[in-house]
Amino acid sequence: MSRSHRVKLQTLGCRLNEAELEAWGEGFQRKGVEVVGGDEPADLVVINTCAVTQEAVRKSRQILRKSHRELPGARLIISGCLASLEADALAREAGVDLVVSNADKDRLVDIAMEALEIPAMPELAITDVASPLFARGRQRAFVKVQDGCRYQCTFCITTQARGAELSRPVDEVVAAIRRLHGGGVKEVVLTGVHLGGYGSDLGVDLAGLIERVLAETKIPRLRIGSLEPWDLPDGFWELFQDPRLMPHLHLPLQSGSDAVLKRMARRCKTAEFARLVERGRQSVPDLNVTTDIIVGFPGETDADWRQTLDFAEAMAFGHIHIFSYSPRAGTLAAKLPDPIDAAVKKARCQGLQGLLKDSKLAVMRAQIGKRVSLLHESAAKERDQAWRSGYTPNYLPVRLIGGQEETGNQILDVELTDVDEAGELILARPVGQPEAAGR
Ligand code: SF4
Repeated sequence: MSRSHRVKLQTLGCRLNEAELEAWGEGFQRKGVEVVGGDEPADLVVINTCAVTQEAVRKSRQILRKSHRELPGARLIISGCLASLEADALAREAGVDLVVSNADKDRLVDIAMEALEIPAMPELAITDVASPLFARGRQRAFVKVQDGCRYQCTFCITTQARGAELSRPVDEVVAAIRRLHGGGVKEVVLTGVHLGGYGSDLGVDLAGLIERVLAETKIPRLRIGSLEPWDLPDGFWELFQDPRLMPHLHLPLQSGSDAVLKRMARRCKTAEFARLVERGRQSVPDLNVTTDIIVGFPGETDADWRQTLDFAEAMAFGHIHIFSYSPRAGTLAAKLPDPIDAAVKKARCQGLQGLLKDSKLAVMRAQIGKRVSLLHESAAKERDQAWRSGYTPNYLPVRLIGGQEETGNQILDVELTDVDEAGELILARPVGQPEAAGR
């Protein structure tokens, strides 16, 4: 009897890449190709590359080469932003069989099956859409609802790599989430490049999409992915009255200096950002706001940097993704004068790390004593003590000690008791019966 082909899926970069990978996993399974994880042997490897920084480019190439070394017999398919920007160079890399650009990535499974002459085996097809996710050790599913961006922030290569805005119809998103929920997934993250622009090509908006997902699916936990701090639709904050919409927003700030924001061509000044966060916190209890900050953008003076630190402190972020700026060929920012010295960038990054530690600690401490629901995602053992980990509704990391042994992917009712010594996690204990859904 013929056995099915096996595919290993790898990604790096943004959540959109993760969402695309999950969709390919579902697509391959429908064709009878088995999705495998970890160190399992595979006949095909698909890598979704990233090109957002030079470091991401380096890592993408590194993964590609490592993959070819480890599985020399496997056919290698490369897609993603780097594959779109440098298709010819990637096609010449040893072991690469196929390059699929972002423009064609929604059809990647069909293109790969045809170009590499992989026989579809519908008799072996698995229709459980969640199993590729679980095979890769994940519980939280990312669902792509939108691609592309209409803006041109000067540091961003995404507009070139991903093209114009394109939204996925509401019915399709609802159907995808229903299938995932039916397969056992309990938490879904709506993901896009410019989520706030969702639906401009369909005559709906992000609020309309969320409303329909909440009304027409029973997914217990729904999250909104990274959202630029502008273009938020009317009625946005009211959506959080539904406890299934998780109270966390990742709003990329990038700088706390209006002069730097202007050079970045961002659409939101600090005063508007602060108003948005204030409104959010008034409307949504326990809203956790996290952000991205670029350190050492060209021309960033000491005074600009001071403003960034002061603003970040005032915003009380629950987390900050800190990016040390490096010029990305092909962007407008790469041509800007006054680059920042590497040692200055390093010192500024360290300063921001220190601020982040305090800010995170304060956000976590404010939660102590509360009872919340936790999506238990994984179990581990350390010094003979078993513990489980997961995230609160407002996306704070939790270590749960005690209670029964669970296999993961369960929503539990817990009490937040303390913050761990390193100030990285909230400690919690199970209480009562697991909750069915929401906060
Ligand atoms: S809004 Fe976001 S995706 Fe669009 S250009 Fe700016 S950083 Fe890039």
